[in-house]
Amino acid sequence: MITLKEALKLNKEELNNFKEELKAKIQARPELNAYIDINNVGEGVPIAIKDNIQVKDWSVTSGSNILQGYIAPYNATVINKMKDAGLSPFGRVNMDEFAMGSTTESSFYGKTQNPHNAEYVPGGSSGGSAAAVGAGLAIAALGSDTGGSIRQPAAFCGIVGMKPTYGRVSRYGLGAYASSLDQIGPMTQNVEDAAILYDIISGFDEKDSTSANKNDKVSDKLDSSRKLKIAVLPKHLDGASEDMKKAYALAIKELKNAGHEIVEHELMDAKFDISAYYITATAEAATNLARYDGIRYGNRVTGKNLEDTFIKTRSNGFGDEVKRRIMLGNFVLSSGYYEAYYVKAQKTRHMIKDQYDKIFVDSDLILSPIAPDIAPKFGELENPMDMYLSDLYSISVNLAGLPAISLPISKGENDMPIGLQLIAKAYDEQTLFDGALSLEKQINNKG
Ligand code: GLN
Repeated sequence: MITLKEALKLNKEELNNFKEELKAKIQARPELNAYIDINNVGEGVPIAIKDNIQVKDWSVTSGSNILQGYIAPYNATVINKMKDAGLSPFGRVNMDEFAMGSTTESSFYGKTQNPHNAEYVPGGSSGGSAAAVGAGLAIAALGSDTGGSIRQPAAFCGIVGMKPTYGRVSRYGLGAYASSLDQIGPMTQNVEDAAILYDIISGFDEKDSTSANKNDKVSDKLDSSRKLKIAVLPKHLDGASEDMKKAYALAIKELKNAGHEIVEHELMDAKFDISAYYITATAEAATNLARYDGIRYGNRVTGKNLEDTFIKTRSNGFGDEVKRRIMLGNFVLSSGYYEAYYVKAQKTRHMIKDQYDKIFVDSDLILSPIAPDIAPKFGELENPMDMYLSDLYSISVNLAGLPAISLPISKGENDMPIGLQLIAKAYDEQTLFDGALSLEKQINNKG
């Protein structure tokens, strides 16, 4: 598959031919179920779009039954920015319902397969985006990351996935899951393409009140020769598989070979991360999803009276995982429990941010796993608690609002891809991409 950088140089005719071929390739792999549909807007370079990002006049459903029939009335800001830069939305890709999940098993449209092996999940929730790029069925894709949903599927499918600093990319037109954590980001074949797509979609937007007033760009200044201080957290790996530990050791060796300085840090105290995340995310989700009642939004199922209509619409429209999270979220927000859960989770969030700040006193970047192991097989994370626990390495980055990028490092059991992530200070995407580019070069040259 040609890269985004190469595709941006094609002329109109070459692009049109390319799109015809791409369409045929996608249609030849229906079992993968990466795309929900193939739509093309405009004449630019085709980019696959996660089904929670609005493209005017497209169906947009967040992978849910409750949004069947909903047509986007306007473009998300990222879509307008893409169009201005010569890219065009091409195809809507699959995801876990309302971006809640780590496996892309909960979509209304069925499961997406991992392109490397059909027995394994592609990760989630941006599993369609990752599978499309990993299978050579997209040049690049947009995903969203609330607690790892860009970085983890990227790692499972052998591609690059980047979550920007909270506030860097406008959330206007993104279907909200947990508004204080959600960020849109690029999923690409390599680090340079991620930087290019990040530059295109980022920047201040007055339509998003949490948008940061920052417009600096990275791709023209990429410099893989910078020598950086990279923090490693050996004890943080206790919960990771042997394959993952080997990949971590390999990445450290290659970073040293590239001339970076490795700084060892003690364990991040991660024991509160899962609780803080699942309290915050479900509380915000319960609030955001209240609007899907069949009156304001959502596929109405008419009942005996208004209350019965709400109940029937929501019972019929939401899947099990979404219902579980709405119940959890309403519980932690309810009077009597609010202080004990929600308020405590917000304090924990500050604590997590402080831990990162301490590491960044003497380090430019942190090297961390993104998942405890390679992709799980279908059905392996059937118990919701097991699924939540598998987010151990991805969620603190969102709670602290930091930028991070996951990139392929090695292969594990059955030749399944293993990725690791680099994490940077807030708004230091330049260093994040410079370090990632250096590591990518080092890993690729090794053969
Ligand atoms: N797996 C996490 C969750 O289910 C993250 C999802 C995401 O980043 N959208 O909440």
